[in-house]
Amino acid sequence: MTYDVAIVGGGPGGYTAAEEAALRGLSVVLFERDLVGGTCLNRGCIPTKALLHDATPHASLSDMHARKQAVVTQLRGGIEKLLKQRKVAVVHGQATIVSLGVVACEGQTYEARDIVVAAGSVPATIPVAGIDLPGTYTSNDLLEGEGVGLSSLVVIGGGVIGVEFATMYAQLGAHVTILEATERILPPMDREIAQRVTMHLKKRGVKVETSARVMGIEGEPGSMQVRYVDRRGNSGVAEGEGVLVACGRRANAEGLFSPDVQPELSRGALVCDEAGRTSVERLWAIGDVVAGTVQLAHVAEAQARNVIASICGDEPPVETGIIPSCVYTSPEAASVGLTEDEAKARGIAVRTGKALTGANGKCLVEESESGYVKLVADAQTGVIVGAQLVCPRATDLVAELALAISLGCTAAQLARVIHPHPTVSEMVSSAARALAR
Ligand code: NAD
Repeated sequence: MTYDVAIVGGGPGGYTAAEEAALRGLSVVLFERDLVGGTCLNRGCIPTKALLHDATPHASLSDMHARKQAVVTQLRGGIEKLLKQRKVAVVHGQATIVSLGVVACEGQTYEARDIVVAAGSVPATIPVAGIDLPGTYTSNDLLEGEGVGLSSLVVIGGGVIGVEFATMYAQLGAHVTILEATERILPPMDREIAQRVTMHLKKRGVKVETSARVMGIEGEPGSMQVRYVDRRGNSGVAEGEGVLVACGRRANAEGLFSPDVQPELSRGALVCDEAGRTSVERLWAIGDVVAGTVQLAHVAEAQARNVIASICGDEPPVETGIIPSCVYTSPEAASVGLTEDEAKARGIAVRTGKALTGANGKCLVEESESGYVKLVADAQTGVIVGAQLVCPRATDLVAELALAISLGCTAAQLARVIHPHPTVSEMVSSAARALAR
């Protein structure tokens, strides 16, 4: 069987690439060894948000899993239908790229002019004794329903996954301890976001230990101990009925290539140029499997559209330099563009404008927890270069700021736009006015 494009992996990168290619009139085969929708839909973004939405001290985690599953199943059905409508051939099984332009799967071979690898990532592990003990979980395990009934949880890693699961379990009434290796949680984000999120987590009873070096895990399900050394060099033990290991995700490129096709890898991830080309002719890669990429579903989707355009000889349609990132805490946090520190490190003189939730009618009406919208603008030109938010619906509001940055808007231009009242979005225009003055 011969196709224009073969896509390995059916997550947000892979299915978007398949749809885009089909819309451009290409014949497409997509290989998926598990379920279409990938990590995002089956073991990531969507199930986590469904569980977070329902998590209250009175909620039953089993009921929450049932509703989560209904959401996931509905969305997956939609993707499968779309792929069918677009006449994408979906092949279920483990695919291997056996030679240039040839993919083998379940004893069959498929030829394609171009191959796009969109095989995603898997939870990373850490070299610590006891990491594989029963009672230690990855986010996959917890999203698949393990960890029901845990009344205490130790979370190793205070990144996005760690913080979101800590939020969920704290909302369910569990005792949660986060052990984070660096000096603050959510390390790539603005210092002030980390401080504010830490404050809200602590208010919910979450213990947050930063600069914590995990030394080993012991115990059995229901009674686990994580030994660590704290920032002062003192030994400590965090106890929980379970342990979540949330220390990042690693590219899933193992077993994808036969010895005849050996693209350049960096720490197991595919090295690609800006357009998504690997070192092997007509072999492309997108999403979490790419070395140095930001591992987010919306980045994989953007890369998918760009790679298919490149395959067709067109200019990439999506700007991939401006990437909003979101954390589903309570309240939500989001960020796009440069932080004040990053701008300074690049030698850009910036000013910031801020609006507080305490002065926003909608936030007060909703009794939201304290937060802010902060805009970062070039001190000379007033052009917005970054934004950080901790407030209700921050994850939606950040899209407007991504647009402002992409269009090169100044704070004054943003301040000219009428924002509806009473809404949380008014904080964006207040922060812009504070800057434009
Ligand atoms: P991450 O890289 O965001 O965070 C991992 C954290 O673990 C870091 O803070 C790191 O310092 C810490 N860490 C590493 N080793 C440690 C150790 N031995 N002891 C203690 N701490 C240690 O990774 P993640 O949270 O696992 O998420 C994986 C990927 O999935 C990320 O790219 C993330 O952006 C993405 N994701 C995104 C969302 C979202 O957009 N809302 C949600 C979940 C996951």
